[in-house]
Amino acid sequence: MSEIVLILGGTKEAAELAVSLVAEHPDWRVITSLAGRTREPAPLAGETRIGGFGGADGLAEYLRTEGVTRLIDATHPFARQISKNARLATEKAGVPLETVTRPPWQKQPGDLWVEVNSLEKARDELPSGARVLLALGSQHISVFASRADVHFLVRMVDPPAEPLPLADHELVIGKPGNVSEEKALLAAHRISHIVSRNSGGAASYAKIEAARQMGITVVMVERP
Ligand code: NAP
Repeated sequence: MSEIVLILGGTKEAAELAVSLVAEHPDWRVITSLAGRTREPAPLAGETRIGGFGGADGLAEYLRTEGVTRLIDATHPFARQISKNARLATEKAGVPLETVTRPPWQKQPGDLWVEVNSLEKARDELPSGARVLLALGSQHISVFASRADVHFLVRMVDPPAEPLPLADHELVIGKPGNVSEEKALLAAHRISHIVSRNSGGAASYAKIEAARQMGITVVMVERP
């Protein structure tokens, strides 16, 4: 039977899933939904739609209008609202929901991790005078605004729309590199701490491996 699949995306896993569904089922309609946070998203297999649905009700309406037969939530593990909306919307519309979640990273011998359960606790763990790599989206940076005693190196994929609310910081625009590139970045900026969310997956793991090799402390925010 031909299916109409909606993938809630914005992750590497979602992009890979679209490639395999399109290749394996040429008669299916495969639509990937992006929130629209990235200015120039990479092209995806199948169809792409961009922008919010207008909450769970809007998503349920979209499922009905497009005749979606399967919803696959392949969003980032810290994207909580859209996953909640997916649960509610599929219940309302009577559409089956599947979830694709990458496993979290596991602490390895040699890792210097301080494990916390929120960004606020991560902020509070940073010692005065620390030099900290923050690899977080711009919506999360304000949590650290009160730490004028800490130097931040902020890495983002796209330049922020507004100046960052940090007293002492540098901005690096770009994606994560491989382990040797991450080590070079950490060394060049004399980084003492990294704040990272435990996203899992390979794409952003190099900084964690680099930190292990260099004896740098990682304040690891565990999943909600
Ligand atoms: P969120 O807090 O869970 O969602 C906020 C709102 O953004 C949702 O209510 C929804 O708006 C819209 N939205 C989110 N994901 C969407 C999608 N795939 N398609 C259409 N609308 C979407 O999400 P977030 O943390 O801002 O993440 C946004 C997107 O970036 C997600 O697709 C996620 O996979 C990706 N991403 C997030 C992170 C992260 O660290 N959180 C990292 C990498 C990639 P409406 O209520 O109007 O529908």
